[in-house]
Amino acid sequence: MSPRRSPLPSPSEPSGGHILLRFPHPEPPRPTRRKILPVFLPFAGCPQRCIFCDQAAQTGQTPQPLEDIHARLEAQLAELPATADPPELAFYGGTFTALPAPWPRRFVALAGHHLASGRLSRIRCSTRPDAVDPAQLAELKALGLSLVELGVQSFDDAALLASRRGYGGATVLAACAAVREAGLGLGIQLMPGLPGHTPEAFRADVAQAAALRPELARLYPCLVLEGTPLAALWRAGGYAPWELEATVDALALALLELWAAGVPTARMGLAEQEGLAILAGPRHPALGQLARGRALLRHVAAQLTALPEPAPSSKMILNLPRRLQGEALGQKNALAPEYAALGLALRLWDEPDLALCAE
Ligand code: SF4
Repeated sequence: MSPRRSPLPSPSEPSGGHILLRFPHPEPPRPTRRKILPVFLPFAGCPQRCIFCDQAAQTGQTPQPLEDIHARLEAQLAELPATADPPELAFYGGTFTALPAPWPRRFVALAGHHLASGRLSRIRCSTRPDAVDPAQLAELKALGLSLVELGVQSFDDAALLASRRGYGGATVLAACAAVREAGLGLGIQLMPGLPGHTPEAFRADVAQAAALRPELARLYPCLVLEGTPLAALWRAGGYAPWELEATVDALALALLELWAAGVPTARMGLAEQEGLAILAGPRHPALGQLARGRALLRHVAAQLTALPEPAPSSKMILNLPRRLQGEALGQKNALAPEYAALGLALRLWDEPDLALCAE
């Protein structure tokens, strides 16, 4: 039996040729990844149940009295060890700034106490754009809040209206400005494929998000979850989710635009877990990898067009950092034919950058 060979030549094999263009991966350097200590507040503070949302299924938690959540957090923080790399505390799953007073203040004050002792590194929360008040943000910042993730979903008035979000694009822009003016980090969540959303509107959303240069962008394609109003709309034929392939393409373009603006992107899509019944929509367990692979392919194609014409007899090779093999080729090397269609043979190497070579 002959030994199995990697489908790609390794750098130890004779490379020949010469490098025409060397370029880095288009993603900006990732900020230091800290462990996140999540505190789920399913639907707490939400003025409505949004058409697509089932926080209880998404977070695996059921709504509980805030007093109980606070008590549990207090006990958990008291036992948190002091480490060289303290975690970041994140309040997720509801509309944090719209919790009834004095809960936003109480939660942040509790966590802020552990910031001061070095057991936490940062505190973040997620909220709706129409639940942002400058005076409250200033108060929460003074207590230790660092970053506010806004569930923007879209800047597009038509999509926001069709999705019954209850605010328009102007409210989103004002909320982003308020977060910034309070001296807080800004996170922007976008949801391509909302009812009334179009690929063009999503492209405009991404351009707007990139122009705002948030500290973080999160992309969640819209899925139809059992038990939501969107499920009823979908069953009645009033909503058609985006196809997976079109969504991956849209996400790839979004990644490239956000990365070009220096905006880091968080894990993509919903984490699938028990109890989450997805009826329809662009779901895939490796959605992020698919989109990143497609983004890299587009980036390589753009670099290729920037080259002077190689001699007709030249064989073009893409030197690919070994660590990017999985991302570039995708599952079962699905993207290999696309690189071949660009006229590129692939070769792994141990350099940090990519390179286009002729031989
Ligand atoms: S999308 Fe946000 S505001 Fe709407 S119900 Fe879900 S958590 Fe609440």
